[in-house]
Formats: sequence, structure tokens, C-alpha cells
Amino acid sequence: MLSPLIDQLIADLRLLPGVGPKTAQRMALHLLERNRRGGERLAKSLALACEQVKRCECCRTLTEQDRCAICSSAKRDSSLLCVVETPMDVLAIEQSGTFFGKFFVLLGRLSPIDGIGPKELGLDTLFNRLHAGEVTELIMATNPTLEGEATAHYIAERAKPLGVKVSRIAHGVPIGGELEYIDGGTLAHALSSRKEL
Ligand code: ZN
Repeated sequence: MLSPLIDQLIADLRLLPGVGPKTAQRMALHLLERNRRGGERLAKSLALACEQVKRCECCRTLTEQDRCAICSSAKRDSSLLCVVETPMDVLAIEQSGTFFGKFFVLLGRLSPIDGIGPKELGLDTLFNRLHAGEVTELIMATNPTLEGEATAHYIAERAKPLGVKVSRIAHGVPIGGELEYIDGGTLAHALSSRKEL
């Protein structure tokens, strides 16, 4: 519409999640009109990250090192292993500042329809780690969706015979939330995962 180069930039910006045509247009014009330096920096860091970021050989999260900072930290408790679906989940738990163990990132969840099985989730690596004996508790922090629950159960069933304690994070009523606004599924989950006071 404006020029082939600008059209291409707008089309490429739409690769980002949550960015529709209008937002992509605004972003492209903003960078070109008001912040070319920022645009160049963005292009460079994007190219560098795409070239160098890979999976941690130990936990499968994204990092440019062979082992990520958490896996290589001596301060983290290697006996606690928290299993999550995505690197975003690692960040969320890290930001809570309440977990000092290590992680295993599935990069997905079991979904036979989409062809995602144990192999795609790197479960061999996970079970090898459990076999090695350092992990005493596995904390399943997959999402409370049907597939997330199925994945947690699948892993739990195979971890228990190895003598590993398996726990599941509680899902339920958010802090500051009011019961009347919470959907039935969440409330049912909150009730069933209640703890003694
Ligand atoms: Zn790692």
C-alpha cells in the first residue's frame, strides 16, 4: 500500500502474538518515523537471539549457553524439580521469588491429536534425570487444562515407581478474588485441592 518495504515490515510484525493489522501498521510507522535507532537495535537483537538461543541441555528452557543459569547455579536445590510447560512459566515462577529448586520445561503438553507425545516433550531426558537419583520431589506445575492435567498424571505415574515424591501445584481462587466472580471449574478445583487449616 505504502511501499513494498513497509508492507513487508507490517506483514512481518504480524508474526508477533496479539498483533493485528492496525497495531502492526502503527508499530512499523512508529519505528520509521520516530525511533529508527530503536528499530535497528530491535532488528539486531532479534537476529542475534534467533541465531544463538537454543535449548538448555539439562532443562530444555531457552538459553544461549549449553546449560541455563538456573541449571548451572550451585545455589539451587537440585532435589526439587518443577515441571512446567513453557519458558514463560519458568519466568512466572521465578518472579514469585518462592521457588529455589530447578526446572524441567516440556515445551508443550501431551496432545496425541497434534502428534505431541512423550518423545516431543523430552520425557526421556526427564526420566533419566529421575533415575540418576538426585531429585527427591517432582512438582507438577503444568496448566490446569485437560491436556495439562493428563500430562501431569502421565509423568506422575512413571515417576512414583522410581521412589520420587510427586506433588501438584494447587490451582484455584486468585488472591483478592471474590467467589461470586469465579467460574465453576476454578471453584471446583479450589475445593478439591483444599488444605487443612
Ligand atoms: Zn536449564
